[in-house]
Amino acid sequence: MASSSPEGGTVTDRHRSKHQEVRAEFDFGPWIGGEHQPGGTEQAVRDPVIDEAIVEIPHSSTAAVDEAVEGAWDAFENRWEEASARDRSARLFEWADVLSDHVEELTLLECLDCGKPITQARGEVEGAIDTIEFYASVCRAQRGSEVPAGDDLHLYTTQEPYGVVGQIVPWNYPLWAAAWKLGPALAAGNACVLKPASDTPLSTIRAAQLSEGIFPDGVLNIVPGSGSEVGQAIAEHDDVRKVSFTGSTDVGSGVMRAAAERVAPVTLELGGKSPFIVFPDADLEKVVQAVADGIFYSTGEICDAFSRALVHESIAEEFTERFVEAAESYVLGDPLSEETTMGPLTSQSQFETVTEYIETGKSEAELLSGGGTPDDPELSDGWYVEPTVFGGVTNEMTIGSEEIFGPVQTIMTFEDYDEAIELANETQYGLASGIGTERTTLVHQTADDLDAGLVYVNEYGPILPDAPYGGFKQSGFGKDLGLEALEHYQRQKSVYVNLDDPEL
Ligand code: NAP
Ligand code: MG
Repeated sequence: MASSSPEGGTVTDRHRSKHQEVRAEFDFGPWIGGEHQPGGTEQAVRDPVIDEAIVEIPHSSTAAVDEAVEGAWDAFENRWEEASARDRSARLFEWADVLSDHVEELTLLECLDCGKPITQARGEVEGAIDTIEFYASVCRAQRGSEVPAGDDLHLYTTQEPYGVVGQIVPWNYPLWAAAWKLGPALAAGNACVLKPASDTPLSTIRAAQLSEGIFPDGVLNIVPGSGSEVGQAIAEHDDVRKVSFTGSTDVGSGVMRAAAERVAPVTLELGGKSPFIVFPDADLEKVVQAVADGIFYSTGEICDAFSRALVHESIAEEFTERFVEAAESYVLGDPLSEETTMGPLTSQSQFETVTEYIETGKSEAELLSGGGTPDDPELSDGWYVEPTVFGGVTNEMTIGSEEIFGPVQTIMTFEDYDEAIELANETQYGLASGIGTERTTLVHQTADDLDAGLVYVNEYGPILPDAPYGGFKQSGFGKDLGLEALEHYQRQKSVYVNLDDPEL
């Protein structure tokens, strides 16, 4: 499908015409047993730029989850369990190749569904493909080990897949998040049942359709539907042997409780309130941009957003001035345009949540920039909010402690190193953190003292499949990405072989 650059007309006209193309070209719905499953109650998937339905898609029921899990076990036991790492790798590479041929189509779906600027959507689709290729590569290099435990014993370890695993992903980076889970799980030899977020299922369903004929039928299943029904059914399912979840801390802890009933392991990737510490010697040219990207990328709807800027008091004025300038330089517009750097929030409910936080912020702290919705009448139907900056914030304030999940920066100041670390770590979360300094020793000391699973120095991102990604404390546990995620989708087995002299 042709995509991307707007061809003229109003934003509404352009989007309606893209919706028509999408409806004409695709059938979205559950993907179970290697085929599209029509039927089921239809739900609108909305475009947050003009608040109209892109398409209506059938949702899965709990019965469909049962069917998907049962079919996945059949596929695992009869067609997938015996596949060699070489075979799994080849199939994952083949899938990545097909997805690469459809980058623009997947990018367009992601852009329309999330309201994500097309440049960011494209980057995430490419990131999803890179993730699948990473796991296609590394699964062949995996080995067991021999444990030297004595002359009369041959002791070795192997890895095995769980069988059928359940995965639940959010709406803020849909296909990328799905790839973080499907890549390692399939590479490890599991069959998957994945639920995309109700708000943004399109790219993931399409990517699964593009796997047709590559994996044995039933190995990869997508069950769109509501969290309370389909998500809960996956979390509670007796035959789902492991659950991986990305989303809010509240729902994540419920998923963990459900899995605990049958002692199934879980991986949780939850929220954050990530600090970025700007030391007095920081190169403000690059650090201001890093902190701005860190909170305004994806309209702030990203779990590792740098949502607390902790700035040394000696440079607070200059940092703030430059940061406001950076905030005001974002181009709010039609996400289909290559020029747009900030789109709307992904849904009405997210818009309501974020604007409520902004109102709370106005009563708690000093509004330095933004705080409203854009004037452009072309954007008035979308869930846009301006890049917003608050100064004089403390960790005690609502906007300084709760995850807003929108383009809202909170600037705080500190006097010395100890205070910076104390403020940074004074949160129930521990996903990401950032450091702005030119001093190497300070980088290492601070990275060591920060209580978070990710540390970025003088930049925001990238997120590469090569390294583990995940948080501390209430930001979750277990890891997405890296070799660690592959290992999380496997069980380790120790085999003790007695080598006593045989008595003949
Ligand atoms: P959420 O409710 O936790 O949704 C995440 C996923 O879980 C979605 O697929 C959702 O399905 C599903 N879900 C909802 N209730 C469920 C249940 N009872 N059992 C199993 N699955 C369930 O998150 P949200 O409401 O979309 O966002 C709220 C907040 O979560 C955000 O403001 C942010 O703080 C945090 N969040 C974090 C991340 C992250 O990347 N770590 C991502 C998204 C959100 P439905 O789509 O059908 O609801
Ligand atoms: Mg949507």
